[in-house]
Amino acid sequence: MHVVICGGGVIGACAAYFLSRRGIDVTVVERTEVAAAASGKAGGFLALDWCAGTPLDALARRSFELHAALPNEVAADWSYRRMNAYSGVVVGEPSAHRHKPAELVWLADGVIITSRLGTPETTAIVPPRTFTTAMMTAAQARGAKLRAGRVTGLVRSGDRAHVRGVEVDARVIEAGAVVIAMGPWSVLAAQWMSLPPVFGLQSPSLVYNTGTDVAADALFLEYPDEGVSIEVFPRGDGTTHITAFSDQAPLPLDPAAVTPDPQAIERLQAIAERLSPAFRPERILARQSCFRPVTQDGVPFIGAVPGSKGAYIATGHSVWGILNAPATGEALAELIADGAARSTDLAPFNPARLRALDPSLLRSG
Ligand SMILES: Cc1cc2nc3c(=O)[nH]c(=O)nc-3n(C[C@H](O)[C@H](O)[C@H](O)COP(=O)(O)OP(=O)(O)OC[C@H]3O[C@@H](n4cnc5c(N)ncnc54)[C@H](O)[C@@H]3O)c2cc1C
Repeated sequence: MHVVICGGGVIGACAAYFLSRRGIDVTVVERTEVAAAASGKAGGFLALDWCAGTPLDALARRSFELHAALPNEVAADWSYRRMNAYSGVVVGEPSAHRHKPAELVWLADGVIITSRLGTPETTAIVPPRTFTTAMMTAAQARGAKLRAGRVTGLVRSGDRAHVRGVEVDARVIEAGAVVIAMGPWSVLAAQWMSLPPVFGLQSPSLVYNTGTDVAADALFLEYPDEGVSIEVFPRGDGTTHITAFSDQAPLPLDPAAVTPDPQAIERLQAIAERLSPAFRPERILARQSCFRPVTQDGVPFIGAVPGSKGAYIATGHSVWGILNAPATGEALAELIADGAARSTDLAPFNPARLRALDPSLLRSG
C-alpha cells in the first residue's frame, strides 16, 4: 500500500516514521518545508502525566515513553533531555524571605519559585525542529519520500466512496490511504471531505542563545502586573524558548506568511529581560510566532475520516503536539496497516464525534 501524508509537521513526520518502520510505502507532501510551522517553533516541553484526567492521558503516557525510547532507536541526536519543572510568580518587589532552588540562582530576585511541578522522571524536552526533522530523515532512511508541493484536493473512486489519491499542484499522486496532517490548515480538507472544523491559535515566542547560563528547568511563571503566564523552556541544544499569551489572529492561507506581531514580540522581550540578564536582546536567535491546531472540544482528531474510505486525519493537538506526536504516529500506522490501533485506544479521538463543517463557509472565506 502507498500512503500519502499531507503535511510535514511533527505529526506528519512521526506518522511517516512509524508507517515506514512497518515497511509501508510513504510519501509526505509538504508545501513549505519540514517543521515550517508550529512544529519548528514550539517549546518542545514533554510531560508524562499532565494530561491525567483527560481523554489524552493514555496518548501522552505512551508518547512520553516513546520520546525516551526513540533516541536509542533512531541514529540521530536531537538533544532529548529530562528536566525539572517549576511554577513561580514574577513580583514587582522582590521578597528577601523566599529562596530559590540552588540551580535557579540565575533568575532575577523578582522571580519567586512556588512549587515543583515535574521531576526528571515526569518531564523532559526536545528542540522540536530538530526532533521533527530527525523523524522525517529516519522515515526517509526507511524508504519514505518527501515531496515539495501544495495539496489542493483529493482524488476519489468512481463511486466517490473511496479516496484514491491527492492532487498536488494539479498533478495526481495515487494512494491507497491519505492522511491529513496539515496542522491548522487541515481545515481546508473540510472542502473535500466531511470533517469538523480545526482552528489556529497564535502565540509569539522568542528563542535565546543561552548556552549553559540557564539551568535545565522548565518554568511556568505568573506575572500578575502584566496579566500573563510565561513559559520558559531551556533546551539541550543551548537555546531557551520563551512564550506567553495567545490570540485569535486570522490564519494566513500560506504557512510561510505567518509572521509575528511586532508589538507582541516587543512586550515578550521586555518580560524576558525582567526574568534574567541571561535574556539579553543580543542573544535573541528568533522572533517568531506560530499557530497551534485546536478543535472545538480541545481533543485532537486521530482516525478515519467518516464517509471517505482510505482517508485519515491527525491534527488538533493544541499545546501538546510535540509531546503526543510519537503515539499518534504509532497508532495511526497500526490503524492504517492492521485496521485497528493497539498501542493507544483511538476512540476518544474519532472525528465523527463533532459536527462536520459546512464547506460553503470555507468557500465564502
Ligand atoms: C508557541 C507554541 C509553543 C508550543 N509549545 C509546545 C510544547 O512545549 N510542547 C508540545 O507538546 N507542544 C507545543 N506546542 C504545540 C505544537 O507545536 C503543535 O501542536 C504541533 O507542532 C502541531 O503539529 P502539526 O504537525 O499538527 O502541525 P504543523 O506544525 O502546523 O504542521 C503542518 C504542516 O502542514 C503544511 N501544510 C499546510 N497546508 C498544506 C498543504 N495544502 N499542502 C502541503 N502541506 C501543507 C505546513 O506547511 C506545515 O509544515 C506549541 C505551540 C506553540 C504555537
